[in-house]
Amino acid sequence: MEQLSAIRIVLVETSHSGNIGSVARAMKNMGLSQLVLVNPQEAIDGKAVALAAGASDLLQQARVVASLDEAIAECSLVVGTSARPRTLSWPALDARECGLRATTEARHHPVAIVFGRERNGLTNDELQKCHYHLHIPSNPDYSALNIAQAVQVVTYELRMAASAGAVMAEAEVDYPPAEELERFYAQLEAILRQVGFILPRHPGQVMQKLRRLFTRARPETQEMAILRGMLATMHKASAPASGADSEE
Ligand code: SAH
Repeated sequence: MEQLSAIRIVLVETSHSGNIGSVARAMKNMGLSQLVLVNPQEAIDGKAVALAAGASDLLQQARVVASLDEAIAECSLVVGTSARPRTLSWPALDARECGLRATTEARHHPVAIVFGRERNGLTNDELQKCHYHLHIPSNPDYSALNIAQAVQVVTYELRMAASAGAVMAEAEVDYPPAEELERFYAQLEAILRQVGFILPRHPGQVMQKLRRLFTRARPETQEMAILRGMLATMHKASAPASGADSEE
């Protein structure tokens, strides 16, 4: 069950403090403890504490950060949840598969499961920072669960998987953390602009498509080191003659 402590629940710009309290309760019932709040719209107040019931310790320990990047920086597996099925045709997991993968990977590195705003979920940019998307099958005419109830379903599956003790062999791999991926995308974009493949006035969808490609491929830590080394070499080779800037 120890893996559960390496899995954080991230709530992005939650509007209602009561929901934050209910999420804390759902988490503690299933044995999770790490709650991260990205720019919550209401502070932790009496409503949050009342709905957390005996889980107000999770609220006190909750980390509040200003951006999703900060919330997931050290996580090598990030799962984004969505009330809509198959957004952006991204790699997908159902809640049960997420339980198995997240508890397997949590033995090796921190894992984040991200939940969106009550009114409009996660943005496309936020969803594109996730390795997988998770949708809980629901009535297509009324598909959005209350956020704490969505957290309950997902954390129940985490607990079931952790207590069964099953592991996925292919998930026992060393993957780079989210902040390393973001540095890679920034480096890739910089060089594509430098060589004129991305035009400043017409950037198009190239970076989104490349993110999708690399998310699908899910480079391992060593592969990421090769990719970053390749880009650094290309950057040097194509820098203008005066170019003293080859810091990467
Ligand atoms: N109108 C919003 C609903 C957001 S519900 C939208 O269309 O996206 C708030 C959050 O609860 C979602 O961002 C997601 O994190 C979670 N959630 C709600 N229903 C879900 C479902 N069926 N599957 C997975 N997550 C869900």
